[in-house]
Amino acid sequence: MSTVIQGEDAVWEIVIGMEVHAQVTAESKLFSGASTSFGAEPNSQVSFIDAGMPGMLPTLNRTAVTQAVRTGLGLNAAVNEVSVFARKNYFYPDLPTGYQISQYEHPIIGEGAIEIDLPDGKVKTIGITRLHLEQDAGKSIHDMHPTKSYIDLNRAGCALMEIVSEPDIRGADEATAYLSKLRMILQYLGTCNGNMEEGSMRADVNLSLRKLGEEKFGTRAEIKNVNSIKAVQQAIEYEAVRQLEILESGGEVVQETRLWDPVKMETRSMRSKEDAHDYRYFPDPDLLPLELESEWVNSLKETLPELPDQKKHRFMEEYGLSLYDSSVLIAERSRADYYEKAADGQDPKLVANWLLNELLGALNKENIPLDDSKVSAEQLGELVGLINDNTISGKIAKDVFADMVATGKSPSAIVEEKGLKQVTDTGAIESIIDEVIAENPDNVAAYRGGKDKLFGFFVGQVMKKSQGKANPAMVNQILKKKL
Ligand code: ADP
Ligand code: MG
Repeated sequence: MSTVIQGEDAVWEIVIGMEVHAQVTAESKLFSGASTSFGAEPNSQVSFIDAGMPGMLPTLNRTAVTQAVRTGLGLNAAVNEVSVFARKNYFYPDLPTGYQISQYEHPIIGEGAIEIDLPDGKVKTIGITRLHLEQDAGKSIHDMHPTKSYIDLNRAGCALMEIVSEPDIRGADEATAYLSKLRMILQYLGTCNGNMEEGSMRADVNLSLRKLGEEKFGTRAEIKNVNSIKAVQQAIEYEAVRQLEILESGGEVVQETRLWDPVKMETRSMRSKEDAHDYRYFPDPDLLPLELESEWVNSLKETLPELPDQKKHRFMEEYGLSLYDSSVLIAERSRADYYEKAADGQDPKLVANWLLNELLGALNKENIPLDDSKVSAEQLGELVGLINDNTISGKIAKDVFADMVATGKSPSAIVEEKGLKQVTDTGAIESIIDEVIAENPDNVAAYRGGKDKLFGFFVGQVMKKSQGKANPAMVNQILKKKL
């Protein structure tokens, strides 16, 4: 768990603040009715507004606002009654208007906090500075033609939430824990699909070093658009060493924007960092300040789904699960739902064990997501029920389970078909034991003469004769008596 980096003669603390761009789940764009669906024919989802045609007026998308407010509530953040859309002016070929509509001085969401779970089992709170709504830009495509660049405006104007954290994050583990938790919250809320491969969620990592114990932050570099959790980890590890070498050789870190090259595994300077005044922000004259009614905000608050941390704590209390098991179960909403369905009416800890150790293990091996599992939640619960009511032993259950994974059959059908029911009939077990005793006179004599260790041998013989079906507790008890 490295929150620091060791230099020649000092220990440096790795200070990180993140800006995450999350594409809002909404059918249409922030200020136009064009579709937001991914993977469409280039430039097939572009309205006059998105293309920057003169004289077009933006119309604010109510769903995007709703999603931003719900996200703010999910981040335990202040919802601002009034926010203002501003123009951020810059030139880029995939930005036909010459400005991006964003929020600057008055964002829709103010300060909040996220609880992150660290690998050592500790919990830490990371402050959220703000969340604002803004338009996404289009896409420039440079690798389709040797001398030409192409522009696809399908993404231009899609609603983004920019979620800015305080510089509370220390090191790569905390940064990845932060991103995972943030993504989880967005997915639970259904406000962003969190798909980093498709670019629906992108992270800018701001990183600086300071000598351990010092208060003042060092100068930061910003690493733009890192697009996977693994890349965030690698970029931080690289960038911390780069800054360390500069600082320890007496140099100064330049405040700049860098990019992460996942092939060369390095960060590279992109441009010097622009200051806010370079963008000539001003309130967009085409849009009124956005005012939210507190009743409406409250109604959204009341209908918020249960969020990951609430679910985690409930699982610990309601089902008596450990912090670790609960964290793994809630990591995906569909996994948590599967668990609750399977645990309904069954021993919850045993169900958690079977799900986490057996089912997820088996699925991982084949690279199958839980949603496509042949074993339904009800069937897994039923299997645990069969163990608990002594219909089958834990050992036989493993065979039944392997069959379930392969065929999707219900456990009771498999038990029935293969005649695997556990033998709990005292008479039947006694007669097997009698046979075993009769077949092994020497061992019986040795056992009775004090060779206690032979008891295991007899248990083994009885289980073998019963094809693993005899109830082990009863075998033990009756054997003791008879020997
Ligand atoms: P900008 O808008 O120019 O990118 P901000 O002040 O809004 O700058 O900060 C952007 C991000 O950088 C925030 O997440 C913040 O926590 C982080 N940050 C600010 N100062 C530092 C620093 N010295 N070291 C690391 N991160 C920092
Ligand atoms: Mg920034």
